[in-house]
Amino acid sequence: MQNNRAAHVVIDRVAMQHNLRQVRALTPNAKIMAVIKADGYGHSMEVVAHALNAADEFAVTALDDVKRLRSQGISKPLTMLSATFDVAQLNKMSAQSVRPVIYDLSQLTTLSQVSPNAELDIWLKIDTGMGRLGLCIEDAHRVATRLINQLGIRSVSAMTHLANADNPDHPSNQRQIKQFLKFAEGHGFSELSIMNSAGCVAFPDASRDIVRPGVILYGISPQLGTSAADLSLKPAMTFKSKLISVKRLPVGSPIGYGSRYTLDTDSRIGVIACGYADGYPRHAPSGTLVLVNGMYVPLIGRVSMDLITVDLGELPVKVGDEAILWGENIPIENLAEACGTIAYELMCGVTQRVERVVI
Ligand SMILES: *Cc1c(COP(=O)(O)O)cnc(C)c1O
Repeated sequence: MQNNRAAHVVIDRVAMQHNLRQVRALTPNAKIMAVIKADGYGHSMEVVAHALNAADEFAVTALDDVKRLRSQGISKPLTMLSATFDVAQLNKMSAQSVRPVIYDLSQLTTLSQVSPNAELDIWLKIDTGMGRLGLCIEDAHRVATRLINQLGIRSVSAMTHLANADNPDHPSNQRQIKQFLKFAEGHGFSELSIMNSAGCVAFPDASRDIVRPGVILYGISPQLGTSAADLSLKPAMTFKSKLISVKRLPVGSPIGYGSRYTLDTDSRIGVIACGYADGYPRHAPSGTLVLVNGMYVPLIGRVSMDLITVDLGELPVKVGDEAILWGENIPIENLAEACGTIAYELMCGVTQRVERVVI
């Protein structure tokens, strides 16, 4: 580590490679477009892209992502999931093996001006019930054939996105899959893509040509009520810091801002160098577990900007001991649930100042 701040995240490339193999095992006949948007879900996009060299393609959301990856020598096809572009950018995307996603009719004007010499591989995104990005079925039928025959467009593929794949029994899943496959019939699309991580787990048999796993690659279970261990996933991110103070306080002592917590016995309190400015959620309630020197201790009092406080009891720990905020044995999913959020948000929320230590 280069800086003297103890809070850092450890990014485990071997864990990501293991998780990628789990996806391969689930959907052996599909290509894998690893989703590495949002700086690789907070893991550092370049690190993830190098580690997941065995993926077939990557999905990103900005031309800046393309620049970063191409400058690192990553030459795999990239899909631009959600970004607007002008004609110059489209022509450039063609040259850089970037596949734009057409999700709104307004993009067709730009697309019609693309150079006839371009070799664009485009995605049509169809809204089958997510209610977010995507052409409605009627519009998509109308434009698909025209796009397939347009000069400058080498191939047209089609994708849709499931709204409830984390809840496999939800009736919208089958409805969306059926509607999408029916739509795709007869159009001659190059590739079809439906599944995010949760879809790969819940509906592997419907995974078609290419799957789009994101969160599962980072070792998070995408399924409600299923843990990462249940799916043999390994968390790729461990959020670590250190105890920077240990002291005894008597019963009744208030802890932290607002004095919202008071000690119910004489105890030893520990202060860990990590707070909401590092991406540790401010809403983590008292009682949230932290691992200090391998032992579980409860968070007490409010999370501050740079610090949290824990009740150490009489455990054999001292200043300088390691604290783990999330990672193996301390699932980020549990912390997320206690804070009313999801692991995705916590991973993406690790701030810039937190050093990424790659192993
Ligand atoms: C982010 C994203 C994914 C990946 O979702 P996970 O739940 O992380 O697997 C897949 N497809 C699209 C269109 C996305 O935007």
